[in-house]
Amino acid sequence: MMRSRKAKIMATLGPASDDREVIATLFRAGADLFRLNFSHGELEDHRRRVEIIRSVEEEAGRPIGILLDLQGPKFRLGAFGGDGTVEVHAGEAFRLDLDDRPGDARRVTFPHPELYRTLAPGSTLLVDDGRLRFTVTAHGEDFAETEVEVGGELSDRKGVNVPGVVLPLSAMTEKDRRDAALGLELGVDWIALSFVQRAADADELRGLVGNRCRTMAKLEKPAALDGLASIVDAFDAVMVARGDLGVEMPPETIPTAQRRIVRACRRTGKPVVVATQMLESMITSPVPTRAEASDVATAVYEGADVVMLSAETAAGQYPVESVQIMNRIVEQIEGDEYYRAGIEGERMNPESTVADAICYSLQSTAHVLSAPAVVAFTASGFSALRAARERPAAPILALTPSRETARQLALVWGVHPVRVGDVADEQEMVEVACDVAVREEAARPGDRLVIAAGVPFGTSGTTNMMRVAEVPTGAGEGTSS
Ligand code: PEP
Repeated sequence: MMRSRKAKIMATLGPASDDREVIATLFRAGADLFRLNFSHGELEDHRRRVEIIRSVEEEAGRPIGILLDLQGPKFRLGAFGGDGTVEVHAGEAFRLDLDDRPGDARRVTFPHPELYRTLAPGSTLLVDDGRLRFTVTAHGEDFAETEVEVGGELSDRKGVNVPGVVLPLSAMTEKDRRDAALGLELGVDWIALSFVQRAADADELRGLVGNRCRTMAKLEKPAALDGLASIVDAFDAVMVARGDLGVEMPPETIPTAQRRIVRACRRTGKPVVVATQMLESMITSPVPTRAEASDVATAVYEGADVVMLSAETAAGQYPVESVQIMNRIVEQIEGDEYYRAGIEGERMNPESTVADAICYSLQSTAHVLSAPAVVAFTASGFSALRAARERPAAPILALTPSRETARQLALVWGVHPVRVGDVADEQEMVEVACDVAVREEAARPGDRLVIAAGVPFGTSGTTNMMRVAEVPTGAGEGTSS
């Protein structure tokens, strides 16, 4: 089953999308990848979801990507007494401390000693996605006194953001290390690090995962934008995590931040995910707002690799409808005459490497010959990524012997990954490319395919050959892959 769109769809799993039937339906409706949000749920829930995804993958015969999203150093208030809620009002004093007694309208536990040290009088604390705002008036090693600037209801374990402060913290918590280890054991394809502030934040995760899976930086702190280019270099992919980013930065700055991040990723050829509140109203409504449809459209016009659903599929009432509508919006935009013009207008110059020269020719040759598909033989996924950077009009069939590579490529714009056996020589390469293209309904006999590969065959990172082949009669009926 080949999707008729280039941008990919990622659906977050949660209580609303927990059973096999729903997950299989989400996949059929258009979800190319699933996100496991380790800020919520028990390890056993995640383990079960991975098992279901792999069985859906087996049944469909298509690689499905899995992203493990680590919680990161998210700061949370402790619990309150009574029914777990209190009301605080502007002008009142409110204390955060390490005392673990239940909180009330005057104080609550805030179990993050490392944070007290970074505060200063006048520092702002944003609570519950910025709905409440406190200003620090005094602080010590184990407390902060604040004044409530914007009040409201406080409840157990609400999140706290400290905008504008580069926190002197390790990017991974103990929980993240345990969760990443479980993810590797389960065979996830991507691990996302939350609250990335600097390129060096990649080091520990990279050290942990090696080449067992790919790394993604979630950009949700303003500090990350200062070091954007080096962060994009340090990770394999990036997520524009607009939820927390939108808490720490004014809303009017989010569209430009998104555009900057997407462009930085497209320049380097790193996949980029646009996330959060894309179809937010569909948590409770079977149709999105016009503004939400336009938001998905903007990300697609910008050339993002992936548009992501969060609570819509994890906890909403209409998870399947959300994927169906997102699928329709992406298809509609990619069919628009202005879409292609926009992609062409933002084409990035190839870098001065053999791989980029080949992938540039792949794209332009396919265009001149009106080839219905381009084919990239790839072991590590590198050639498929460089081909995707060229944003060809034709779909990219990424043929790989590696199951892991095929799953990782589910995240990449325009790439339709297919597992094939190793090819021994150029003739076999052409046969396999033609067979797969016909079987996947990407080409018909008589069409021309443009194929990129690396010689010697089977060696990673050697994209150095391009070949045009005419699909012969009978292709797709053989057993050559
Ligand atoms: C976000 O902040 O946009 C995001 C995707 O992260 P989380 O859902 O973990 O808050």
